[in-house]
Amino acid sequence: MKKLTSFIAGLLLAVSICTAQEKSSEPKTVKIDDNFYCIDDSSRQFFFIGTEKVLLVDTGFGRVDFTARIREFSNLPIEVVITHGHGDHTGGLKQFGECFANERDFSMITEEITKKPLKDGDKIDIGNFVFEIIEIPGHTEGSIVLLEKNKKFLIAGDSVQEGPIFMFGDVSKFDTYIASMKKLNKYKKNIKTIYSAHNTLSYGAEYIKYCIEDAKLFKAGKIIPEESESMGRTRKTYKGKHVSFFAD
Ligand SMILES: [Zn+2]
Repeated sequence: MKKLTSFIAGLLLAVSICTAQEKSSEPKTVKIDDNFYCIDDSSRQFFFIGTEKVLLVDTGFGRVDFTARIREFSNLPIEVVITHGHGDHTGGLKQFGECFANERDFSMITEEITKKPLKDGDKIDIGNFVFEIIEIPGHTEGSIVLLEKNKKFLIAGDSVQEGPIFMFGDVSKFDTYIASMKKLNKYKKNIKTIYSAHNTLSYGAEYIKYCIEDAKLFKAGKIIPEESESMGRTRKTYKGKHVSFFAD
Protein backbone atom coordinates (compact mmCIF):
# COMPACT_ATOMS: atom_id res chain seq x y z
CA MET A 1 0.00 0.00 0.00
CA LYS A 2 2.83 2.33 0.98
CA LYS A 3 4.54 1.47 -2.31
CA LEU A 4 1.36 2.20 -4.28
CA THR A 5 0.88 5.55 -2.49
CA SER A 6 4.44 6.66 -3.22
CA PHE A 7 4.08 5.46 -6.83
CA ILE A 8 0.91 7.56 -7.30
CA ALA A 9 2.59 10.56 -5.61
CA GLY A 10 5.56 10.18 -7.97
CA LEU A 11 3.23 9.92 -10.94
CA LEU A 12 1.35 13.08 -9.93
CA LEU A 13 4.64 14.93 -9.47
CA ALA A 14 5.83 13.81 -12.94
CA VAL A 15 2.54 14.92 -14.52
CA SER A 16 2.69 18.33 -12.80
CA ILE A 17 6.33 18.84 -13.88
CA CYS A 18 5.46 17.91 -17.47
CA THR A 19 2.46 20.25 -17.50
CA ALA A 20 4.52 23.11 -16.03
CA GLN A 21 7.25 22.55 -18.63
CA GLU A 22 4.72 22.46 -21.44
CA LYS A 23 3.21 25.77 -20.30
CA SER A 24 6.57 27.49 -19.81
CA SER A 25 7.94 26.22 -23.11
CA GLU A 26 5.13 27.58 -25.30
CA PRO A 27 7.25 28.76 -28.26
CA LYS A 28 7.12 32.36 -29.43
CA THR A 29 6.74 33.63 -32.96
CA VAL A 30 9.95 35.50 -33.81
CA LYS A 31 10.37 37.90 -36.74
CA ILE A 32 13.49 37.18 -38.77
CA ASP A 33 12.94 39.66 -41.60
CA ASP A 34 10.03 41.38 -43.36
CA ASN A 35 7.25 38.80 -43.84
CA PHE A 36 9.57 36.05 -42.57
CA TYR A 37 8.90 34.44 -39.15
CA CYS A 38 10.14 31.55 -37.07
CA ILE A 39 8.56 29.41 -34.35
CA ASP A 40 11.14 27.49 -32.33
CA ASP A 41 9.57 24.39 -30.83
CA SER A 42 13.02 22.73 -30.36
CA SER A 43 12.59 22.05 -34.09
CA ARG A 44 12.15 25.31 -36.02
CA GLN A 45 9.27 26.09 -38.33
CA PHE A 46 9.45 29.05 -40.67
CA PHE A 47 6.60 30.90 -42.32
CA PHE A 48 6.54 33.50 -45.07
CA ILE A 49 3.77 35.99 -45.73
CA GLY A 50 3.45 36.30 -49.50
CA THR A 51 1.18 38.55 -51.51
CA GLU A 52 -0.90 35.58 -52.65
CA LYS A 53 -0.29 32.90 -50.04
CA VAL A 54 1.42 32.10 -46.78
CA LEU A 55 4.02 29.36 -46.91
CA LEU A 56 4.72 27.31 -43.78
CA VAL A 57 7.88 25.20 -43.87
CA ASP A 58 7.76 22.24 -41.44
CA THR A 59 5.27 21.69 -38.64
CA GLY A 60 7.44 20.69 -35.66
CA PHE A 61 6.04 18.34 -33.02
CA GLY A 62 2.53 19.69 -33.56
CA ARG A 63 2.29 21.56 -30.26
CA VAL A 64 1.59 24.90 -31.96
CA ASP A 65 -1.74 26.02 -33.46
CA PHE A 66 -0.27 27.21 -36.76
CA THR A 67 -3.40 28.70 -38.24
CA ALA A 68 -3.96 30.87 -35.13
CA ARG A 69 -0.32 32.02 -35.21
CA ILE A 70 -0.36 32.83 -38.91
CA ARG A 71 -3.75 34.58 -38.73
CA GLU A 72 -2.11 37.22 -36.48
CA PHE A 73 -0.33 38.38 -39.65
CA SER A 74 -2.37 37.32 -42.68
CA ASN A 75 -5.67 35.87 -43.81
CA LEU A 76 -4.26 34.51 -47.07
CA PRO A 77 -4.47 30.77 -47.81
CA ILE A 78 -1.76 28.68 -46.08
CA GLU A 79 0.37 26.23 -48.03
CA VAL A 80 2.56 23.72 -46.15
CA VAL A 81 5.88 22.18 -47.19
CA ILE A 82 7.95 19.76 -45.16
CA THR A 83 11.72 19.51 -45.62
CA HIS A 84 11.63 15.78 -44.78
CA GLY A 85 9.54 13.12 -43.09
CA HIS A 86 10.94 13.00 -39.54
CA GLY A 87 8.38 13.31 -36.75
CA ASP A 88 9.75 16.62 -35.41
CA HIS A 89 8.89 18.20 -38.78
CA THR A 90 5.57 16.51 -39.53
CA GLY A 91 3.86 16.60 -36.10
CA GLY A 92 1.50 19.45 -36.97
CA LEU A 93 0.42 18.18 -40.39
CA LYS A 94 -2.86 16.89 -38.96
CA GLN A 95 -3.92 20.54 -38.64
CA PHE A 96 -3.96 20.78 -42.45
CA GLY A 97 -5.70 18.96 -45.28
CA GLU A 98 -2.67 18.69 -47.53
CA CYS A 99 1.07 19.25 -47.72
CA PHE A 100 3.90 19.32 -50.20
CA ALA A 101 6.85 16.97 -49.72
CA ASN A 102 9.28 14.91 -51.73
CA GLU A 103 7.64 11.65 -52.80
CA ARG A 104 10.45 9.53 -51.38
CA ASP A 105 9.47 10.59 -47.82
CA PHE A 106 5.71 10.10 -48.34
CA SER A 107 5.82 6.74 -46.50
CA MET A 108 7.22 8.49 -43.40
CA ILE A 109 4.17 10.78 -43.21
CA THR A 110 1.58 8.95 -41.14
CA GLU A 111 -0.96 11.79 -40.95
CA GLU A 112 -4.04 11.19 -43.09
CA ILE A 113 -3.70 14.15 -45.42
CA THR A 114 -3.26 14.67 -49.14
CA LYS A 115 0.44 14.54 -50.02
CA LYS A 116 1.49 16.53 -53.05
CA PRO A 117 4.88 15.78 -54.63
CA LEU A 118 7.75 18.25 -54.97
CA LYS A 119 10.81 17.47 -57.04
CA ASP A 120 14.15 19.03 -57.93
CA GLY A 121 13.75 22.35 -59.73
CA ASP A 122 10.12 22.93 -58.74
CA LYS A 123 9.28 26.50 -57.80
CA ILE A 124 6.93 27.77 -55.10
CA ASP A 125 5.96 31.37 -55.86
CA ILE A 126 3.94 33.12 -53.13
CA GLY A 127 4.29 36.60 -54.58
CA ASN A 128 7.18 38.29 -52.81
CA PHE A 129 9.14 35.08 -52.21
CA VAL A 130 10.04 32.49 -54.84
CA PHE A 131 11.49 29.24 -53.56
CA GLU A 132 13.34 26.72 -55.66
CA ILE A 133 13.27 23.14 -54.47
CA ILE A 134 16.56 21.26 -54.37
CA GLU A 135 16.57 17.56 -53.56
CA ILE A 136 19.35 16.64 -51.14
CA PRO A 137 18.85 12.99 -50.10
CA GLY A 138 21.06 11.66 -47.31
CA HIS A 139 19.57 12.64 -43.93
CA THR A 140 16.41 11.03 -45.34
CA GLU A 141 15.76 9.80 -48.89
CA GLY A 142 13.30 12.59 -49.55
CA SER A 143 15.11 15.53 -47.91
CA ILE A 144 14.71 18.84 -49.72
CA VAL A 145 15.86 22.42 -49.15
CA LEU A 146 14.18 25.65 -50.27
CA LEU A 147 16.36 28.28 -51.94
CA GLU A 148 15.27 31.91 -52.25
CA LYS A 149 17.74 33.10 -54.89
CA ASN A 150 16.78 36.80 -54.94
CA LYS A 151 16.94 37.13 -51.16
CA LYS A 152 19.90 34.74 -51.02
CA PHE A 153 18.81 32.43 -48.24
CA LEU A 154 18.26 28.72 -47.84
CA ILE A 155 15.85 26.82 -45.59
CA ALA A 156 17.86 23.68 -44.91
CA GLY A 157 15.80 21.48 -42.58
CA ASP A 158 18.24 19.26 -40.63
CA SER A 159 20.84 18.74 -43.34
CA VAL A 160 23.14 21.78 -42.99
CA GLN A 161 24.05 22.67 -39.38
CA GLU A 162 26.60 21.96 -36.64
CA GLY A 163 24.64 18.88 -35.53
CA PRO A 164 24.63 16.27 -34.32
CA ILE A 165 22.87 15.46 -37.59
CA PHE A 166 20.95 12.17 -37.26
CA MET A 167 22.50 9.75 -39.71
CA PHE A 168 21.49 6.31 -38.48
CA GLY A 169 18.92 3.75 -39.47
CA ASP A 170 17.78 2.76 -42.92
CA VAL A 171 16.78 6.22 -44.10
CA SER A 172 20.17 7.97 -43.72
CA LYS A 173 23.02 7.39 -46.16
CA PHE A 174 26.43 9.08 -45.86
CA ASP A 175 27.57 8.63 -49.48
CA THR A 176 24.28 10.07 -50.73
CA TYR A 177 24.55 12.89 -48.18
CA ILE A 178 28.07 13.86 -49.37
CA ALA A 179 26.91 13.84 -53.01
CA SER A 180 23.93 16.04 -52.06
CA MET A 181 26.11 18.54 -50.19
CA LYS A 182 28.44 18.76 -53.22
CA LYS A 183 25.41 19.45 -55.38
CA LEU A 184 24.16 22.11 -52.93
CA ASN A 185 27.59 23.74 -52.75
CA LYS A 186 27.23 24.66 -56.44
CA TYR A 187 24.50 27.11 -55.37
CA LYS A 188 26.72 28.85 -52.79
CA LYS A 189 26.91 32.11 -54.76
CA ASN A 190 23.13 32.32 -54.37
CA ILE A 191 23.28 31.77 -50.61
CA LYS A 192 24.19 34.30 -47.93
CA THR A 193 22.33 32.73 -45.02
CA ILE A 194 21.33 29.15 -44.24
CA TYR A 195 18.45 28.73 -41.78
CA SER A 196 18.49 25.46 -39.88
CA ALA A 197 15.77 23.59 -37.99
CA HIS A 198 18.03 22.76 -35.05
CA ASN A 199 20.86 24.22 -32.98
CA THR A 200 22.13 27.60 -34.24
CA LEU A 201 19.47 29.49 -36.21
CA SER A 202 21.65 30.58 -39.12
CA TYR A 203 24.93 29.77 -40.79
CA GLY A 204 26.95 31.14 -43.68
CA ALA A 205 27.22 29.28 -47.00
CA GLU A 206 30.62 27.89 -45.95
CA TYR A 207 28.77 25.44 -43.70
CA ILE A 208 27.89 23.32 -46.74
CA LYS A 209 31.62 22.75 -47.31
CA TYR A 210 32.09 21.94 -43.61
CA CYS A 211 29.34 19.30 -43.88
CA ILE A 212 31.16 17.72 -46.84
CA GLU A 213 34.56 17.80 -45.11
CA ASP A 214 33.36 16.30 -41.84
CA ALA A 215 31.17 13.65 -43.51
CA LYS A 216 34.26 12.64 -45.50
CA LEU A 217 36.31 12.43 -42.29
CA PHE A 218 33.60 10.15 -40.86
CA LYS A 219 33.65 7.95 -43.98
CA ALA A 220 37.44 7.70 -43.78
CA GLY A 221 37.17 6.48 -40.17
CA LYS A 222 39.10 9.49 -38.93
CA ILE A 223 36.66 10.55 -36.20
CA ILE A 224 36.63 8.57 -32.95
CA PRO A 225 33.04 8.48 -31.68
CA GLU A 226 31.79 9.37 -28.21
CA GLU A 227 29.22 6.90 -26.91
CA SER A 228 26.10 7.84 -24.96
CA GLU A 229 22.78 6.28 -24.00
CA SER A 230 19.65 7.79 -25.53
CA MET A 231 16.12 6.45 -25.98
CA GLY A 232 17.19 2.96 -24.84
CA ARG A 233 20.11 2.51 -27.21
CA THR A 234 23.76 3.39 -27.48
CA ARG A 235 24.35 6.40 -29.68
CA LYS A 236 27.68 7.24 -31.22
CA THR A 237 28.45 10.91 -31.75
CA TYR A 238 31.11 11.66 -34.33
CA LYS A 239 32.41 15.17 -33.76
CA GLY A 240 34.12 16.61 -36.81
CA LYS A 241 35.87 19.98 -36.99
CA HIS A 242 32.62 21.91 -37.48
CA VAL A 243 29.82 19.36 -37.84
CA SER A 244 28.91 16.33 -35.76
CA PHE A 245 26.84 13.30 -36.68
CA PHE A 246 24.84 10.71 -34.76
CA ALA A 247 25.55 7.43 -36.51
CA ASP A 248 25.58 3.66 -35.92
ZN1 LIG B 1 15.44 15.04 -39.47
